[in-house]
Amino acid sequence: MTATVHAAPVVLTMTGPPLVEGAVLVENDLVVQVGPRSGMPTSVRVRQWRGVLTPGLVNAHAHLEYGPAFAHLSSAGLPFAQWIQQLAGIRQGLSDVDWQVQARGSAHQLLKSGTTAVADVVTRGPAIVVAGSLGLQGISYVELAAVDDARWPAALAKLETLLMTTGRPVGVSPHTLYTLSTAVFRELTSLARARGMRLHPHLAETADEAEWVLSGTGAFQEIAERFGFQFELAGSGAGVSAVRHCADLGGLGPDVHVAHGVHVDASDRAILREHRTAVALCTRSNAVLGAGEAPVADYLREGNVIAIGTDSLASAPDLDLLAEARATRDLAVRQGLPRPEEQLVEALTLGGAKALGLDLGTLKPGCRADLAVFDVTGDDPYKALIDQGAGRCLATVVGGRLVHRR
Ligand SMILES: [Zn+2]
Repeated sequence: MTATVHAAPVVLTMTGPPLVEGAVLVENDLVVQVGPRSGMPTSVRVRQWRGVLTPGLVNAHAHLEYGPAFAHLSSAGLPFAQWIQQLAGIRQGLSDVDWQVQARGSAHQLLKSGTTAVADVVTRGPAIVVAGSLGLQGISYVELAAVDDARWPAALAKLETLLMTTGRPVGVSPHTLYTLSTAVFRELTSLARARGMRLHPHLAETADEAEWVLSGTGAFQEIAERFGFQFELAGSGAGVSAVRHCADLGGLGPDVHVAHGVHVDASDRAILREHRTAVALCTRSNAVLGAGEAPVADYLREGNVIAIGTDSLASAPDLDLLAEARATRDLAVRQGLPRPEEQLVEALTLGGAKALGLDLGTLKPGCRADLAVFDVTGDDPYKALIDQGAGRCLATVVGGRLVHRR
């Protein structure tokens, strides 16, 4: 048995108030004791860190397979509809080995910035294998996009194959309400539920999406026409908001979390709360793609379950969750919520855990020893993390193993 005490001036357990001069006793891959450093056994190895020690962070929306080869897209300044077509173009030329290299590049960014769990959207097997082999907790959501009823049999066969990939829990990601027919979207929600799998669609990301769902017109109608997709909403729409329509198709629930949630009004946020559906906010990706600004302050004031995701390197400058959280904090402050830092650290840990339906994001006896240490200081550790934590991860421990040290 190997035992190590990880001690720090401040330990955030996320099960209670911050522990000053706290420590976490790890045996093998598990946390066995959390409390004041003075109460820890003296016979075991101690790693005394500076800064703030936290549970490993949870990235609630990423696409690890869109790795470094896609990174130039995040600074290309393309409108969303063009960006998504360029992304599809790069995808064409990649082999399985390339996909593995991309996923590995992204995963290393997670680990070196203190993230130990991820809701990863995948269209290929290599990303599932890579995330599993590096010990990242979470779920790989197999995504289906660009599927109408005629394309469904072939898409289902591909989905079935990917859902058999081992190494990591899998779920289902019906991509969006504008890249799937209504019937296919419904099929995917029923298929996931019949198998006890969780769901994770993109929802209410752009104004174009809102227009498509409401009236069946706009940029996504043009794209559907150009590529010959037969979608029920074309030309008529569903006459409701994207969130309402998703709920009507069975696409919301406590077993679902959605990405983006930008174009939502008070009644949409209420629908999300009624369905106990968490939202993974992706503030920087939304800015890069011109998708708009999510009503972060309203979500937090009204009590929606919020998590934070970076999205992929194709639409974010990096995969550092604390950089993402800082941008989200700045947005919430601009929207009139003065001190959202503690709530946002909750979103990075407990919120991510709720989004994924997994027991993650806390430090308590019996949980897997996933933790991170950040070189930050200040009277308020939550504010210190959000203000200073980006790029300052000193150490990341995954299942008791030190996988990153700066
Ligand atoms: Zn995404």
